[in-house]
Amino acid sequence: MATAYIGLGSNIGDREANLKKAVSQLASCCPVTILKQSSILETGPVDYLDQPRFLNQIIKIQTDLPPPDLLKTLQRAEIELGRKKSIPKGPRSIDLDILLYDDIIMSTRDLVIPHPEIKNRWFVIKHLVELDQDLIDPVTGKKFKDMIDDHQA
Ligand code: ADP
Ligand code: MG
Repeated sequence: MATAYIGLGSNIGDREANLKKAVSQLASCCPVTILKQSSILETGPVDYLDQPRFLNQIIKIQTDLPPPDLLKTLQRAEIELGRKKSIPKGPRSIDLDILLYDDIIMSTRDLVIPHPEIKNRWFVIKHLVELDQDLIDPVTGKKFKDMIDDHQA
């Protein structure tokens, strides 16, 4: 059984309801157990700036699905929750990303783990630490909480 952290984001429609629906959809559709849910943070858009603000949350899950199957499951859930094909980094009713999967490090055309945006997005690090104080970044071997301290130093 693997432990993974999934990032959720929404900036279209009833954003809070979209996050809630995504969590219950994953819990009911798939071999995924929700272990913990972070708080919800509102954040400004990062790459493509001309779009509404996002609500972001992360969840910690347990699953037997290997990473590529987990990605497919998330993509299916995005479509079922009404996500339309859209501009990259643009507005979306729901975005589900694999942030971490055990301490796996992988990079294929379709899937990069740990998610490369973790280190650029303070709120993702904040949420990871909120769920697990001592969680370690498999790439650097550093605790995520020390990265927050580095930011503030
Ligand atoms: P965004 O980069 O804004 O999340 P999309 O959700 O449209 O945009 O994802 C674009 C592509 O990112 C997907 O088709 C997927 O193959 C790829 N991808 C690479 N690594 C990951 C990951 N860790 N989690 C989710 N998608 C990923
Ligand atoms: Mg995505």
